Amino acid sequence: MKQTDIGEKTELVANWQTLQRIFIQPENKAARTALVKYMEQILFGLHDFLKKHVGITRELSLETLSERYKNSKISRNPEKKLADVIKGIIEDIAPHAVNVASPYFIGHMTSAIPFFMVHLQTIVAALNQNPVKLETSKVVSILERQVLAKIHRKIYRMTDEFYDRHIQNPDSTLGSFVNDGTLANLTALWVARNAFFKPKDDFTGVEEQGMAAALQAYGYKRCVVLVSQLGHYSLRKAGGILGIGNANIIPVEVDKNSRMNINKLQDIISNIQNNSSGTKILAIVGIAGATETGTIDPLNKISEICKEHKIHFHADAAWGGPALLSEKYKHLLLGIEKADSVTIDGHKQFYMPMGCGMIYFKNPSIMDAIAYHAAYVIRPGSVDLGIRSLEGSRAAVSLVLGSALEIMGAGGYELLINHGIETAGYFAEEIKKRNLFELVTYPQLNILTYRIFPEDLKIKWQTGSMQEKKDITQQVNQININVQRLQREAGKSFVSRTTLKRTDQADMVVFRSVIMNPMTNIDIICEILDEQEEIYNSQFKI
Ligand SMILES: *Cc1c(COP(=O)(O)O)cnc(C)c1O
Repeated sequence: MKQTDIGEKTELVANWQTLQRIFIQPENKAARTALVKYMEQILFGLHDFLKKHVGITRELSLETLSERYKNSKISRNPEKKLADVIKGIIEDIAPHAVNVASPYFIGHMTSAIPFFMVHLQTIVAALNQNPVKLETSKVVSILERQVLAKIHRKIYRMTDEFYDRHIQNPDSTLGSFVNDGTLANLTALWVARNAFFKPKDDFTGVEEQGMAAALQAYGYKRCVVLVSQLGHYSLRKAGGILGIGNANIIPVEVDKNSRMNINKLQDIISNIQNNSSGTKILAIVGIAGATETGTIDPLNKISEICKEHKIHFHADAAWGGPALLSEKYKHLLLGIEKADSVTIDGHKQFYMPMGCGMIYFKNPSIMDAIAYHAAYVIRPGSVDLGIRSLEGSRAAVSLVLGSALEIMGAGGYELLINHGIETAGYFAEEIKKRNLFELVTYPQLNILTYRIFPEDLKIKWQTGSMQEKKDITQQVNQININVQRLQREAGKSFVSRTTLKRTDQADMVVFRSVIMNPMTNIDIICEILDEQEEIYNSQFKI
């Protein structure tokens, strides 16, 4: 626990004296210098590592690594000084973590973040504000409301007068920060459920009396949520938690462009309405940037259908939301302004560190449907943000997003968004030029899927019977699974893989690429494709 006197060889003991020292400001110049040096190590030691270490992760099996971490006892005495802990993390942990900052890492929605995010995140820890209540956050809660209004405005583009009225009005809630997209989607469906099954007559509301009483009071047998088959699995979790049942999160087929098939949606709705099954459609979810394909559902059409049938329209823009900051591409999300609720993740295309989800609502009072009060905090009539929020205590990440918006400007984010979309477009063109590959989903945003599909098999497939087609697809799937694995294990670059369901043919294994690192360019992409071709040619070519 001795923190500040580096250099001296002291025995590590837990005592009251050292405890006091780590809770107060470093008392002398030497101690301050030491602490600054540690921060330098974090900022640059880690950064140097990320620069040198281009591959995804150093080769060392998970079994070997787990052998090192089998001691489950907390030692009675302090084991290490801060300096040694930092050194240990930089030397022993970082090299075996995944270098998500590599421009060759194009497989997931986690990527390099701007350098300043580390500074901002450090401030969040240093101030340690808790926006659950004003008494532990004061101006930080007020700032949070401002940041929420800024993003709300990008989504809904309401009038100046609207924002003047609601931005700092404790009775209005434009949205809420949560830990991630999963909790944002859960909050959206929670609000939709409670707003629909509101108190009437003797029934005091679903939040108080539960689903069985709610269905009975409203004369239904079950409720469902409709989302395209590419819907994120967090919606199914929400179905489970909210008592809707995850089997009642009903997938709607997609069209050939991987967008929700509106005819199929209408069929499902008519079916439900015609057969007096006692089913209530609680919400329809439109995806703005599907996790697997990056595709955007026809939001305008979904909004019209929701309006006609008075159904809650939720837009899951966890991935695609920040494209609203691009003047050039924001039109791709048209219709999102009609959504009753919108999910956006800050730790995806706002390039924030992990732990920032957001949920927005068009109607500033709809979150009253989930309001909770407690006697010692979040008292009725107070401005505590915890009144209408899924989480209790949480980090003040609005400080990070608010500052990042100031540092980057909408223009800075636009550059990142445009780079991703345009590089993904070049990527798609490059795939089309190469005979070994087939482009499976064209990037509407910056995600695309493709696969290896050797020429001879392509030809056989075209003229094959149903059974032959199925067999060829399985053979091709296996090739893609193996190439993806070998590329990952080689550790130079990383593309993920997924399985897309096809209604007209066998399920298809594809490579999935997410272009969000501004350092990923077409040359790097060509190298990654070359590597895949090499692996195929050396191992699987028949
Ligand atoms: C990532 C994602 C989510 C879930 O977000 P987490 O932050 O991982 O919980 C939900 N929906 C979509 C479309 C996503 O891309």
